Amino acid sequence: MRILLVEDDPALAGSLRQGLQQMGFAVESCQDGSEADAMLSLRAFDVVVLDLGLPGLSGMEVLRRLRKRGATTPVLVLTARDALQDRVAGLKAGADDYVLKPFDFEELEARLQALLRRTQSERAGYLEAGGLRLDKRSRQAFFEHQPLMLSSREVAVLELLMSRCGRVVGKDQLAEHLTGLEEEIGPNAVEVYVHRLRRKLEPFGISVRTLRGLGYLLEKND
Ligand code: CA
Repeated sequence: MRILLVEDDPALAGSLRQGLQQMGFAVESCQDGSEADAMLSLRAFDVVVLDLGLPGLSGMEVLRRLRKRGATTPVLVLTARDALQDRVAGLKAGADDYVLKPFDFEELEARLQALLRRTQSERAGYLEAGGLRLDKRSRQAFFEHQPLMLSSREVAVLELLMSRCGRVVGKDQLAEHLTGLEEEIGPNAVEVYVHRLRRKLEPFGISVRTLRGLGYLLEKND
C-alpha cells in the first residue's frame, strides 16, 4: 500500500512516517502543497494523509485539484481542533475523513484502517457499517444477513449515511443525493425519509442521530 504523507511540521511528519511504516505502508512524503499536487497528478497512491495548513498550496486546494482530476483516492485530512469551518469545507472539497490535531498515533491508525476498509468494500460493491450491509447493485440492505424492508428513498438515505459512517451528513447533502430519484426534494421530505429509516433501524440497535443545524449521524448503540 502506497501512502502519500503531506505535513509541513518536520517533527510530526517524522513520527507519522515512522508509525505509517510500522503499519506496513510504503511512505512517500512532502512538506509543500504544490509539491503534493505535482506528486498526486503524476502518480497513484492508495491513500493520502493531508495536512490543511501548508506552504505553497493549501491542503484544501490540493484536495480540490485532486478531485477535479476525477481521482477517488481516499484522503484523510489533518486539521486543527478549533477549525470547524475547515472540517466542513474539507469534507465538501472531497476529504473522506479527518483527524483533529493534536492526536495520538493510535487514533490516526484506527481512522486510516476504517477508511481503507470502507474504500475496499465500496469498490467491491457494498457498504458496511455496524452490522449493516448494503449491496449497491441490488439496493438491498441487510442487518447481519437479515434483509431489511426499505423503500428506494430510505435505501438512498442509508447509502449516504453509511458511506459517511461516523461523520455528520448535512440535510442539503441528503437532499442532493435524493434528487436523482425525484424531481424536487425539500428539507421536509428529507426529514420524513430519515424519520422512517430511523424507525426501521431502531430494532437493530442502530440510530440516526439528529445534530441540530448540522445534519445526521449514523450510530451503533452500545
Ligand atoms: Ca501545517
